[in-house]
Order: sequence, then C-alpha cells, then structure tokens
Amino acid sequence: MKDRSLVVVTAHAGDFVWRAGGAIALHARQGGKVKIVCLTLGVRGESGTAWSEAGATYDSVAAVRTKEAHQAAKILGAELIPFELDDYPIDAGSSLSHRIAAVLREARPTAILTHPPADPANLDHARTHTMALEARMIAIAPGHGADYIAAPQVYCFEPHQSELCDFKPNVLLDISEVWDAKRAAMEAMPVQRSLWDYYDRLALQRGAHAGRRVGRSVSRAEAYQQMFPRTADSLT
Ligand SMILES: [Zn+2]
Repeated sequence: MKDRSLVVVTAHAGDFVWRAGGAIALHARQGGKVKIVCLTLGVRGESGTAWSEAGATYDSVAAVRTKEAHQAAKILGAELIPFELDDYPIDAGSSLSHRIAAVLREARPTAILTHPPADPANLDHARTHTMALEARMIAIAPGHGADYIAAPQVYCFEPHQSELCDFKPNVLLDISEVWDAKRAAMEAMPVQRSLWDYYDRLALQRGAHAGRRVGRSVSRAEAYQQMFPRTADSLT
C-alpha cells in the first residue's frame, strides 16, 4: 500500500470530506499517500452560514474555509493542495487541466477520486470531473513530457443527490474502521454543520448495502462508480 498513492480532485472545500473522507482516511491509515486538489474553497456557493456573520466579506469567509479545509485534511491524513479559484461558477480552462496534470505527474497515483460526470444541480462538480479527466489525459501522454504516468483508475464518489446525477455505484468501500476520523473531519467544518448527520445517515445506508454483499456486518461505507474496467485473472 505504501507505494500506492491517491489523488482526490474536488470542486469545493467540503466535497472531499462528505464524499470521500472514508477512502482518504483508510488509504492514509494503511500507509498510502493522499493528495487533495481542491479547486476552490466554495466561498460563494457552499459557505452559507459563514455569510450570515456580521461584516462577512469574501476574504473573511475564505479564511474560515481555508482553516476548516486544512484541519479536515490533517485529520484524514492527507496533503491539501488548494488552488483557490473562484466558485459558482468555476472558470475552467486548459491551463487548469495542465495545473492538475502537474500534480498527477508528481504524485503518480494508482487512482483518482473525483465527482461523477453529471450534476445538473451543481455544474462546478461536473466541470471538475471533466477537468480531472482532461488532466489525466495530459498526464499519461508522452508528448507532454518524459515523466508521463501509467493510466490511473478513476473512481467517482457519491454526489449529494444520486438520482439527479445518474449515479450507479459499483464499488462499496467499508469505512467502518476509519469512521471516527471521517466524523471528526466533518465536525472540523462547522460552516456546513447541516451536512454532518446527512452524511452519517448515508454512510449507515451504504454500510447496510455493503454488509449484504459480504455477508457480515458493515457499520458504514462509501459508494463509488469505477470508470474503467479492472483487469482480473479470475472471476471467482
Ligand atoms: Zn461542492
């Protein structure tokens, strides 16, 4: 596990916690490296309660979200790489893809975790998916430099409203042993306190699904949609 690394590419500060905090903590606890590329702090669109503070400004809300994101990443055992772009909407372009690709070439990940391709309620999430895949394409291309990487697997993590995003999970990750860390990371983000119990319930629900697959109790799980086929030498 030590030689395997994960890169997580998320649109906003909280996304890596709610949707992939268990996978991040699990990989880190198993000795692997995790880098989180956080394109924005979600200042405009995902920091509602911080804007209700008297005298709130973009900079004051950004400072709060920066502190929260670093604290959550530390709890999960990951390195946070904040790009600090503006959000709602993210201004995506090819220079951004090259910037993400540089992180991929340095980290040489076995897998990338990011948003699923569709999210009509949040186009920043869908754009981030496109940017992550474009960055992967750049990172694996020999024509962009001799330090090109082997093609990493891509896992899309669960969106807020799965039914709107045509999300069909094909991997359920048992995160029971790291739930304490994920819950602590969630609680390190009081600006989005309203999501704490929501994602606790979701983890319980996915845990029940996972337990049915393996025939044992799984207290909590996260759902993922694997994008590329996995090579196997046996189906049993
Ligand atoms: Zn988001």
